[in-house]
Amino acid sequence: MHTTCRSLEGTRRALYIGGRFVEPKSGRYIPSFDPTTAEPWYELADAGPEDVDDAVAAARAAFTDPAWRRMTQSDRGKLVRRLAELILANAEELALMETRDNGKLIKEMRAQMRAMPDSYTYFAGMADKLQGDTIPVNKLDMLNFNLREPLGVVGMITPWNSPLMLLTGTLAPCLAIGNTVVIKPSEHATASTLALAELVAEAGFPAGVVNVVTGNGATAGEALTRHPGIAKFVFTGSTETGSRIAANAAKNLVPCQMELGGKSPHVVFGDVDIERTVNGVVAGVFAAAGQTCVAGSRCFVEASIYDRFVEALVARTGRIAVGHPMEEATDIGPLALSAQLAKVEGYVASGLRDGARLAAGGKRPQAAGLDKGWYFEPTVLADARNDMGFMREEIFGPVVGVVPFASEDEMIAMANDTRYGLASGVWTSDIDRAMRFATRIDAGTVWINTYRAAAYMSSNGGFKQSGYGRRGGFDVMREFSRSKNVVIDY
Ligand code: NAD
Repeated sequence: MHTTCRSLEGTRRALYIGGRFVEPKSGRYIPSFDPTTAEPWYELADAGPEDVDDAVAAARAAFTDPAWRRMTQSDRGKLVRRLAELILANAEELALMETRDNGKLIKEMRAQMRAMPDSYTYFAGMADKLQGDTIPVNKLDMLNFNLREPLGVVGMITPWNSPLMLLTGTLAPCLAIGNTVVIKPSEHATASTLALAELVAEAGFPAGVVNVVTGNGATAGEALTRHPGIAKFVFTGSTETGSRIAANAAKNLVPCQMELGGKSPHVVFGDVDIERTVNGVVAGVFAAAGQTCVAGSRCFVEASIYDRFVEALVARTGRIAVGHPMEEATDIGPLALSAQLAKVEGYVASGLRDGARLAAGGKRPQAAGLDKGWYFEPTVLADARNDMGFMREEIFGPVVGVVPFASEDEMIAMANDTRYGLASGVWTSDIDRAMRFATRIDAGTVWINTYRAAAYMSSNGGFKQSGYGRRGGFDVMREFSRSKNVVIDY
């Protein structure tokens, strides 16, 4: 990889189309900010419709080029494995870029980058396993079978919170199966995706198999989602943007896979070990300063232990170290965007107006060195109600609302009373209770006595307005391939 985090400083990053970096025809560049200082550190191209046309044309040409189309399955798998090796070899640089772009902890980004190659290797194994099936037909001397083939050009639009990790579960299988892609990363964190494009070239993928168009959602994103040359969109981001993208895609009847926002319930029964559970709840909501789609931001606690639990939660929250993301001792870094900080402050204020009690946090930290960045203290709003505004909307910041419940029925009704259905967690020592919760909750993922554990070997995704389509596991082979029916009369 030629670009490093240091060499990026103060530069302008071009678009990556057809195997090379090209200046945007739009002529526009926009800054990418460092969340610890609120200062710009490089500029990225803001692609327009002409640039998007070029990227889709390059991906289309690569899809039909014999260099890719006629590559054997096992050779495609080898390329994906080679990419895995290069990601591992460049893990430190990729981690530095993401931390600088989105302010997430360097230790977390390092762990993500080191784990990512395993998932590329897993999906690489799908290259030679895509197979169709033979089906009976009610007539003699006829053969009826389904071929499985790649879709074409897949458009991928990613958020800023874990750009490469969130790309893995779709990019790796798409490449293994033989699709080509156009990626539009978030304008707030493009550095690592452009660096990945360099690694794709270094791995030996033909030019045009992976293209990256950067820029604002309203410009580059809109142009891509209105493009008729895309076979499928994969979107990870907010529910509002997802709905807009699905509407654009529908005009060309392009299917989508949607991984959207959440407002996940975290349920604590009276029979738990309070210390262990508090640690789990804290990690589940405050990880990455609350900027995870699965954040367990609505915490329902059985009335019998409510006061003791809130006290322990507040004490544990008070020990969370807010600080610079490059420091080992830091538990929570800054929020990624200034708009995000304003949104968090607004929701905390509205929660207090609605009658919730500020039990911990609630403001920007005063410590020296944190005054310029977009930092916010981890915040507990106790004695909340599920119908308060801040309990209805995704905050995407370090804020948890705590609500007491008296019965399982009451808790399930509140937990399911949300437009989202991404994830959920339950803490109890009673397996029957845990299983009742698992079967009654409307959420794509249920964690029992743990939270945020995930594996690329299992398929997952959201319910309701948290999205549709599945990532991970063997299901993705069907998500990124199509079936063609062939009938022979012999
Ligand atoms: P966002 O919706 O603001 O932006 C996501 C991407 O969409 C960016 O690349 C952006 O440029 C693009 N975009 C914005 N407007 C567009 C438009 N009109 N047309 C096309 N593209 C457009 O989301 P964000 O703030 O970057 O990320 C945070 C959100 O992502 C949260 O809601 C979070 O829950 C969600 N998320 C979901 C998952 C999941 O797996 N379910 C994972 C991570 C993040």
